Amino acid sequence: MKKQVCVEQKKGRWNCHQFHATTEFYADFGTYRVALTVPSHYVVGATGKRIQTQAHQGKKTTTYTYLQNDVHDFAWTAYPAFQRFVRTFKADKDVTPQQTQAAAKLLGLPTSALKLRDVQMIFLLPPERVGQLEKYVKTTRDSLLFYGLRYGAYPYQTLTIVDVPWEGKHRGSSGMEYPTLFTVGGKWLSAPNTLSFEFTLIHEFGHQYFQGMLASNEFEEAWLDEGVNTYTNILLMTEMYSHLMIAPRQ
Ligand SMILES: [Zn+2]
Repeated sequence: MKKQVCVEQKKGRWNCHQFHATTEFYADFGTYRVALTVPSHYVVGATGKRIQTQAHQGKKTTTYTYLQNDVHDFAWTAYPAFQRFVRTFKADKDVTPQQTQAAAKLLGLPTSALKLRDVQMIFLLPPERVGQLEKYVKTTRDSLLFYGLRYGAYPYQTLTIVDVPWEGKHRGSSGMEYPTLFTVGGKWLSAPNTLSFEFTLIHEFGHQYFQGMLASNEFEEAWLDEGVNTYTNILLMTEMYSHLMIAPRQ
């Protein structure tokens, strides 16, 4: 399905780009309520919260309904071999008082202003990546914590992380961000200490803020999202992962 979304920037003046298949986006905020009917053996992920599941026995199909307010796009995926794992980011448990105090000092804010929210994290992994699940969970937790303490709590109830199946990676679908859902792509031959997987996951998560929540124009001002997001990406890696990258001195 091709789409073209225009944004009214000034009264009567529309910002309207041609649609390209692999591109960035610019659109206005809205509420999406979407019903997806798929063969029942498909595993589905989508923007927002799944609010209804209805199986159609005779047709061997299932309808999943999703709802999300205050986003500027909707994305979904369906694949029979996905394995689905659900974890919760618990603000009270996953953020230590020391981490909150350090961020409050850095920002000159009271700790009460940095309270994060619980988030349901949904992981859709192809079978060959399931053994890496805990790495996905840890990196996503770290991202919710770091971006949340510095820029404000992630405001949505769900976050879906999709590791694209091998066939899809060749078509450029891994490493892409959409509201409350993003894709990553584990590599078969990536040395652990390059942390390329972690960098990509953190990066795609960061786009929930830049440009997800800010909704800047990715077509015309790419630096606003890629620049600020990559800067924060590196700050997080330096603070939380550099001990894994640097070989100990002899
Ligand atoms: Zn990016």
